[in-house]
Amino acid sequence: MQHRADPIRLRRDFPILSSRVHGKPLIYLDNAATTQKPRSVIDTISNYYKRSNANVHRAAHALSADATLAFEQVRQELADWIGATSQNEIVWTRGTTEAINLVAYSFLKPRLKPGSRILLLETAHHANIVPWQQVAREAGAVIDVMPCAQGEIDLSRFGELLSRGPAIAAISHVSNALGSIYPIKAMCRMAREAQVPVLIDGAQGLPHTDIDVADLGCDFYAFSGHKLFGPTGIGALWAREEILEQMPPWQSGGEMIEQVSFEETRFAGLPFRFEAGTPNIAGVIGLGAAIRYLRETDRAAMEQHEQNLLRHALECCQQVPGFRSLAAGPDQAALFSFLIDGQHPQDVALWLDRQGIAVRAGHHCAMPLMSALGIPGSIRASFAFYNTLDEAEALASALQQLVDQSR
Ligand code: PLP
Repeated sequence: MQHRADPIRLRRDFPILSSRVHGKPLIYLDNAATTQKPRSVIDTISNYYKRSNANVHRAAHALSADATLAFEQVRQELADWIGATSQNEIVWTRGTTEAINLVAYSFLKPRLKPGSRILLLETAHHANIVPWQQVAREAGAVIDVMPCAQGEIDLSRFGELLSRGPAIAAISHVSNALGSIYPIKAMCRMAREAQVPVLIDGAQGLPHTDIDVADLGCDFYAFSGHKLFGPTGIGALWAREEILEQMPPWQSGGEMIEQVSFEETRFAGLPFRFEAGTPNIAGVIGLGAAIRYLRETDRAAMEQHEQNLLRHALECCQQVPGFRSLAAGPDQAALFSFLIDGQHPQDVALWLDRQGIAVRAGHHCAMPLMSALGIPGSIRASFAFYNTLDEAEALASALQQLVDQSR
């Protein structure tokens, strides 16, 4: 049913993209921070509150039954989309951060002993560092860091680090700060051979490419709905069912139980055991609309368009004196970080904002990477399929103007 492939036509599905900022047409190049939402997502959420709002899984009334059906249908749609074998493998979370925390506290913490190891990437987002660090500290475990600040992963070095027997390897699919796409399939295969469980932080992966978790061979895949053209406050953890079966609940309360007395509680089965309290019902239903939108899109064509955007933006920006891209890996998603000689990243971002161009400046929640690169921060331009080649050129022209007026 893939019928939509034209980025210019697709733009019309995103109401915010026709707005103006500081009197200029909005050019939204901060998609790695959060993506814009198509009308179908906005309308689905609005219609849910107008017509079907009720709590799920509990009441015997019709509205609750409708809400439950819609809510659980999205779990099945997501499972089908990413190649999960069962909807029991999909746990709703607030986003990637909460999904990683779930794995850190429920899966990893009980397995850690003093001296256990955890393998992370040098480019990791703080969400894929700090939760591991917290459980490591409590257990006396150590963190090994796979160098990749220059973009590339040296698989033989990765193999050496795996041979130390880490309790988990937590790998980004795509670096949010550099845009590097990591060879996660090869890395998962190596980890499996070394019997090391792998979590993939897919926050920046799934927005750019379809995945099949069975084919990837990972144990956990985490992502955020808001980076996937869906609402904020919702995301998911996919995990292999036999692993989830062994994991204890990590938060407790209503919804995650089967039977409670003051003496003892029996927990619900999968996946509800990991979903304490009233879930983000509108968020799940809105995410469902985002998934449907993407499934109706020719993603291969969109990926190609994003790669064209990346190449064109880099070619144009490289004409600007003093422009220095930090993009270095062999495979690059449609985002890049850069510096302009003699300009503070924050000043560059503020200048671009005045031209209507939204980018991000700072450490991009990757302080260890910034330290490895010896810089306090950078400017990041991140694209989605609804961006145009004209917008890529507008970025370069605005940078050129900034440089010209600073001479
Ligand atoms: N991991 C990566 C690579 C990210 O880019 C982000 C967000 O920028 C996160 C994790 C955290 O995502 P969230 O804040 O939606 O939980």
